[in-house]
Amino acid sequence: MKTDFKLLVNGKLIDGVSTFDVINPATEEAFAQCPRADEALLNQAVAAAKAAFPAWSALTADERGAYINRLADAIEARIDEFARLLTAEQGKPLDQATYEIGGSIYTLRAFAAMRLPDQTLRDENGNTVIEHRTPLGVCASITPWNFPVILLANKIGPCLIAGNTMVSKPAPTTPLTTLLLGEVAAGILPPGVFNVVCDQNELGPLITGHPDIAKVAFTGSTATGKKVMASAAEGIKRVTLELGGNDAAIVLDDVPAKIAAQKVYAGAMANAGQICVAIKRAYVPEAMYDEFCTEIAGLAEAAVVDDGSKQGSTIGPIQNRMQYEKVRDLIEDAKTRGRVIAGGEMPDRKGYFIPPTVVADLDEDAPLVREEQFGPVLPVLKYADIDDVIARANDSPYGLGGTVWGMDQQRALDVARRIDAGTVWVNQHLAIDPNIPFRGSKQSGLGSEHGLAGLMEYTQAHVINAVPLAAEPA
Ligand code: NAD
Repeated sequence: MKTDFKLLVNGKLIDGVSTFDVINPATEEAFAQCPRADEALLNQAVAAAKAAFPAWSALTADERGAYINRLADAIEARIDEFARLLTAEQGKPLDQATYEIGGSIYTLRAFAAMRLPDQTLRDENGNTVIEHRTPLGVCASITPWNFPVILLANKIGPCLIAGNTMVSKPAPTTPLTTLLLGEVAAGILPPGVFNVVCDQNELGPLITGHPDIAKVAFTGSTATGKKVMASAAEGIKRVTLELGGNDAAIVLDDVPAKIAAQKVYAGAMANAGQICVAIKRAYVPEAMYDEFCTEIAGLAEAAVVDDGSKQGSTIGPIQNRMQYEKVRDLIEDAKTRGRVIAGGEMPDRKGYFIPPTVVADLDEDAPLVREEQFGPVLPVLKYADIDDVIARANDSPYGLGGTVWGMDQQRALDVARRIDAGTVWVNQHLAIDPNIPFRGSKQSGLGSEHGLAGLMEYTQAHVINAVPLAAEPA
């Protein structure tokens, strides 16, 4: 596996000012060194992106789309290398890593084809009003460690097709796939259009406060999102914030318990629960509660928790020690308040492994119910009344996603309408599509990613309002 990684600044692959270890979470061993940028290197990257902007934005969208498609093709040609590296730094099983890279390629291609045509707002009595969209300039991408590649693709696609240039900063614990993407991009994109800098959590405020950065596209925790927004206020910088969630799954009483358990289990435990829109609380009707608990506990016990590079592994480790300790502490606390019906014991081995854990009989105010666990542990709660469960689902500072499961689809839709979240899926989960806007309500975010709404966020509306000039003085 590749171990030599460089930053990308102004089309050149360069060393950082120092390096730091990148840990494989399945072994807790450093397997590569990441080059670290300081403020001077960040400034060089921003200056390069600024210098590249006039020529890049002057291209037609079709020309920019062709570049993005070439980037997607080049990633596809190295998909196995990307996937293996992703498993090594992030922990997820190799098939899921390959799926993430495939989704990233699909996302880039979707944005390469997306256009924002001019809108004629008025055309009457000689008055023509046209709104068109212009790029913003240099945009920054700041990404977390749970899906380092696709969350970056979600930003590169709209940023570049709209005519902006980019400085990208990955999370310190998963920088390598972003650096590999930078290496691939270096051979394709004009110098300065896309730059990669890495840090150990020092560069964020310098990026969000940088006077030459017009917009920050941030995905991460709500706590950091607040800092990003506060810092961006100084320059009235555009921000897109994709933040945390505490998504509820509501199972309606006409769903067979076995089916409900399968769907909820998959939605809660994929990527070891480290998904912003993972199911983080499950609400189940009283009458089927015991059967549901038995079924979901059986699924959890059958999981193969192992190094993601090993064939057959279904759940990899938690990505980093800090998150591992947070999830472990939430489980320990939940043990004192509820009934652990699956998992709950940390294996005695190297690696940040946590078995899929299900906790029954918790009160609504238990930390595992109120907080975002971001790990493979699910509280299962019972309800008797549909209005009550909707109120409980909505009683959260978060509003990212949610799911409703019901055989009577219309009834499920009626419940979905009443959930205060950016996206509510009915009888499916994680149907995220670059052509469909994705956003959070309340403290789960600001602005959109994906779809035309997401693309617009990388542009400024520009209105031209014209009337003919009378030939005679008034
Ligand atoms: P985090 O907020 O700790 O870090 C995210 C990024 O912000 C990292 O690159 C980090 O280096 C950087 N950062 C740190 N301090 C900063 C500062 N002061 N200013 C600017 N940037 C700074 O998040 P995390 O722990 O890496 O990711 C997990 C969180 O991300 C979860 O809450 C999850 O729900 C959320 N998430 C949300 C979405 C979504 O689309 N809504 C998707 C994935 C993850």
